[in-house]
Amino acid sequence: MQRRRFLQSAGLLTGVSLLPQQAWLRGLLLPASELLALRRNISIYTERGGTIACLLTPQSMVVVDTQFPEQASNLLGLLRATNSQPLDLLVNTHHHGDHTAGNIAFKGMVNTHVAHVNSLANQERVARENDKLAETLLPTTTFTDTWSQRVGDETIMLHYLGAGHTNGDALVHFQEANIVHLGDLLFNRRFPYVDKSAGANIGNWIEVLTAARRLFDKDTLYVCGHAGENYPVTASAADLKAMAHFLKMSLRYVKKAKRKGETLEQILAKTTEIPGASEFKGQGVERILNAAWEELS
Ligand SMILES: [Zn+2]
Repeated sequence: MQRRRFLQSAGLLTGVSLLPQQAWLRGLLLPASELLALRRNISIYTERGGTIACLLTPQSMVVVDTQFPEQASNLLGLLRATNSQPLDLLVNTHHHGDHTAGNIAFKGMVNTHVAHVNSLANQERVARENDKLAETLLPTTTFTDTWSQRVGDETIMLHYLGAGHTNGDALVHFQEANIVHLGDLLFNRRFPYVDKSAGANIGNWIEVLTAARRLFDKDTLYVCGHAGENYPVTASAADLKAMAHFLKMSLRYVKKAKRKGETLEQILAKTTEIPGASEFKGQGVERILNAAWEELS
């Protein structure tokens, strides 16, 4: 309220239409991203890229995913206002750059850096392919099925339930807060990226989401990497169910078209949404169609 009054009196709120054109003004009006508190000491940070989750107290600090270097530095600035010690724990849900490129901002400041064993292999491979090993901070600890660590009064438990969005997606459970960061296993009502080059599997992804709903409970609050327009990056079990349904409908749709003799090109040309799962929108319907085609071939 104070801020708004100040901006009004300074004549800065005269036209909202100015916002997109004038970056300096937008910078004045919209503060740099902030931590959004969820439960206990867990918050999320959503500047650009996959959602980050943090545990922050003056004694403990955990970060799950890191977006890009600039965003990770901004986040670090926010964290440092409360805690100046090394991070107790840094987790990468999977290897994609919009979740791990910011790791480098935490170089020399992390006690334990963990990811699924396949995620580490993918991170290393992609960094090597792009000649970016020097700018990459790789996890130093890996796990295969489950892994846990106590940090302050919270226990962080990692689960691997099989291939989905990639072949190395960790589900990160803050047990006391009962919050689970799903990485990109959930795109909340948005067409997902399906990384076949890193072992993604739609059929198995459905199983992973079903298993997750069984593993956690009705009170669990989920955090997802990405969401569609007007959908939050926090989610409930019902949203996991909707995602599994979308994946199922996608496989069914491509299977049916294939059986009718349609080519992949024909399917791509005519499809803007998946019948039976039209809540899922955005750019990139071709990604799920291509992946489904490959999986059914
Ligand atoms: Zn991803």
